[in-house]
Amino acid sequence: ESIPELLDRLCAVVPDYPVPGVSFKDLTPVFADAQGLRRVVDAIVEPFVGTFDVVAGLEARGFVLAAAAAYATGTGMLTIRKKGKLPRPVHSEDYALEYGTATLELHRDDVPPGTRVLILDDVLATGGTVGSAVRLVERVGCPVAGIGVVLELEGLNGRRHLTDHLVHALQKV
Ligand code: IMP
Repeated sequence: ESIPELLDRLCAVVPDYPVPGVSFKDLTPVFADAQGLRRVVDAIVEPFVGTFDVVAGLEARGFVLAAAAAYATGTGMLTIRKKGKLPRPVHSEDYALEYGTATLELHRDDVPPGTRVLILDDVLATGGTVGSAVRLVERVGCPVAGIGVVLELEGLNGRRHLTDHLVHALQKV
């Protein structure tokens, strides 16, 4: 079974969630499947092996991927969190949502400057979320080794925010 076949089989599509007109791609059944989790994690890091020192996960589904990827590759993990969750001094980056803005934060000193960071999330949509994660990583003085996502919603052209970096998507929908 190919990765696209596996994702077609296990990914749940939820019409009109969270608002009417949106077709939400739910990867929780992929994470819940032993083969699904292992194959997705192995495939998402594969192009980047040897080029990163730590894996950054975006709250919350990115944590699942990043923790598993870090363990599998013998690297560490960074948590990039929603506003107000991290207890020590942070950098903050705002990004646009469909209505209003949201904020992601990263501790200033979880890793030393120069640590090469692979950023992982489940879905790339407009690219606002991953774009703010890139800015946070760069603000702590670390190079972005690349960006990995399971699904890319191609019609939203999230890559336009990420032109300086290698973006690896397991499936484009
Ligand atoms: P963006 O900032 O528009 O690229 O949205 C990406 C963020 O929203 C990611 O953290 C995703 O987890 C979440 N997201 C957007 N669309 C979907 C979807 O269809 N399924 C699951 N998560 C989504």
